[in-house]
Amino acid sequence: MASFEVEDLLWVSCPHRVWRPGRVIDEGEGLLLQLEPEDEEEEPAPLPLPLPPKRLLRRNVVLLGEGALRYDNLTEVPELHEAAVLHALDVRFAHQQIYTLTGPVLLAVNPFRSLPLYGQDALRSFAARQVGVAAAPKPHVFGIAAKALEGIRERYESQTVLISGESGAGKTETTKFVMQFLALASAERPAASGRKESKRTMSRVERQVLGSNPLLEAFGNAQTLRNDNSSRFGKYIELHFARPAQLGDDVPNPKLSGARIRTYLLEKVRVIRQSEGERSFHVFYQALAAAANGGDQLEGFQFPPDSFKYLRHDQAKAAEDLQQYEATLSAMSAIGLSHEVPKIFRVLAAILHMGNLSFNVSGESCQVAGEGNTLALIAELLAVPSKDLAAALTTRTRQVPGEGVIRSPQNLEKSAACRDALARHLYHAIFKYIVERSNSSIGVGKESRAKASAGFWTSSASSSSRRTPWSSSASTTPMSSCSSSSMSSSSSTRRHCIRRRASNGKPRTSRTMPTSWSCFHVGGTAEAWCNKLVRLHEGKGHFSHDRLKKGTFIISHFAGPVTYLCTEFLEKNKDELSADLVQCLKDSDDAFVRERFEEHDRVFGTSQSGKLGGDGRNQRVMKAQRYSVSGEFRQQLQELLQQIERTEPHFIRCIKPNPKNQAFVDGDSSKPFFHRPSVAEQLSYQGVLAAIKVARAGFPVRFWHVEFLREFRCLAPVELRTALEAALKESTDELAPSEAATKSVKALLACPEIQAALSGKRWALGHTR
Ligand code: ADP
Repeated sequence: MASFEVEDLLWVSCPHRVWRPGRVIDEGEGLLLQLEPEDEEEEPAPLPLPLPPKRLLRRNVVLLGEGALRYDNLTEVPELHEAAVLHALDVRFAHQQIYTLTGPVLLAVNPFRSLPLYGQDALRSFAARQVGVAAAPKPHVFGIAAKALEGIRERYESQTVLISGESGAGKTETTKFVMQFLALASAERPAASGRKESKRTMSRVERQVLGSNPLLEAFGNAQTLRNDNSSRFGKYIELHFARPAQLGDDVPNPKLSGARIRTYLLEKVRVIRQSEGERSFHVFYQALAAAANGGDQLEGFQFPPDSFKYLRHDQAKAAEDLQQYEATLSAMSAIGLSHEVPKIFRVLAAILHMGNLSFNVSGESCQVAGEGNTLALIAELLAVPSKDLAAALTTRTRQVPGEGVIRSPQNLEKSAACRDALARHLYHAIFKYIVERSNSSIGVGKESRAKASAGFWTSSASSSSRRTPWSSSASTTPMSSCSSSSMSSSSSTRRHCIRRRASNGKPRTSRTMPTSWSCFHVGGTAEAWCNKLVRLHEGKGHFSHDRLKKGTFIISHFAGPVTYLCTEFLEKNKDELSADLVQCLKDSDDAFVRERFEEHDRVFGTSQSGKLGGDGRNQRVMKAQRYSVSGEFRQQLQELLQQIERTEPHFIRCIKPNPKNQAFVDGDSSKPFFHRPSVAEQLSYQGVLAAIKVARAGFPVRFWHVEFLREFRCLAPVELRTALEAALKESTDELAPSEAATKSVKALLACPEIQAALSGKRWALGHTR
């Protein structure tokens, strides 16, 4: 900031408020910055100017007082920066305006209390509105839903609403509101006018999708330091709409006909360990509580022994867990899973006992310790011979050219890794089964004919110890800068999606992480891999490297730079289940267990390649395709990205106003609790500030020259038409417009009708767009 004058309005950075308002004064001894008092008692001393430039930002006159209430879309605010956004959200939140647009992106600050924003009147007024035609859309979750519905009704194009935010930010609630809107606005159950709000009953699809929630939560959620009920997976809900007889803005809304839930990136590693103060997936504790209470469905599974090494027992909340167990059982019964309850809990018991399986070392090999007890119980629960299970854990069969199949012993480390991998895979298989069954109860098969859908992707931007699992790079496409940032697409980091996970006790700035790099090598040392990373990425995108710290690299996240350790990195990435274990479980006498591993073949591509003669059941040798955590992440993210790319995206960023999940500040129920430092952090790591910059500077709406001519030629003045049509005729390739086409675009942009439509909006003409 170059120079100041008396009465200049400024923001000054401060730890407590992030940015504090002040004003330049002169009391005779040079310019000073007078801070505004926070309350009646405070009398802040003026600060001497100048201050370091990073600590100062200019303050907008338009946001003075309650000016922010007039700005429904913050991109309209001149001089928008972090201080202005934060201040505007704070003021609006204090006045129950929890929704704010930033360009096309909706920011939703969770009020943690019921506000009168979602009644039938609101629903109907958004449903009745023709969004594209209306003046400025009001910021509201229904507004976004209405836009999505409009895309289906008018163009029959699939839509996606991407809902992101950390645990407790309001994603689930927001999803419910979007679904509620679409269900009501769709023709499935026409709204009877004058119906009382309390009488509204949910549509079948809505009920079924929401009904699957408790079950998915039991198996996919866990207590973390930030949230007692944190989703440890990403969720994509698809609502299917039947094609209406005709398209257009004055035809009835399309009929909601079905739904499907897809899940992504379950945090499997949580099954085998959790950070201090956190828990494993809820269902384990529910089972323990139920067993301690004599749960008859759990007989014979030996829940709970004194200690399960895979669980943090200090975190058990027996009464609550027991209550939740009942809720899980009824959710299972609601989707027709009652019969499978014992089968599922039998596998969960096997997983927990597996954590207690230890090994005796003898030289380079090892044996399962105390074979008679834990091993026998696990083998019984999984219905496999204990001898085969022990062999599959402690040895490995390989096909050696010229020598046939040989079996070699594994050391302790590898055997323990096999055990943990089996536990993770078993759990993942159960989770996928639950999702599949939820979907069949919703009736996916029947709906798969429907072509247009509205999907909601919710991703919890929460990691165990801190947030920011997703990294992203700002790019000039609204898609990548605004979407769940795992889908970043800047050229240098396109496929390098990084998910930060629990550091399990390691300091925050030095963590290992399962991740996905395009240059990933499953073999080789961590050091070699690190060198390769540095060679390939040094100086590009968000990657950097500190030469003094060998075996580390740095990623610049929105929230700031984070140093990652390469050690253990390769090991963590190898979540491969040995082919011997897969085969052992595929031979289980229990059909339920067997089927879970047939699925494994389909997903991971193991294939039978030979047979061992003579030693019983575990005879075949499997050749597994190389599997890695990063590979699975990448595959899932690519699928998701492809899915989303086929649709028109809409974005909702949920923001948690304070870390305490409270509506009001302590002791003052008139003052909504807006904790500026934590909100500022979320704005930063969710890429909101970067997205605003893109929306303001990046020209988010882009037409190919030819496309623009086609769309807007009807506005061309008569004298331009002939040239324009000729230009269109000769331009067959949108990517390479002819000179005449570009000239016509220029001429068209200059004509008064277009100028009037563009008034106040900025545009620019590039080579092709
Ligand atoms: P997430 O899914 O992001 O973890 P939830 O949607 O479960 O978060 O919201 C956390 C809590 O905040 C819930 O108890 C919910 O009732 C409350 N909440 C979220 N959004 C709203 C809202 N718009 N109005 C009132 N309460 C809300």
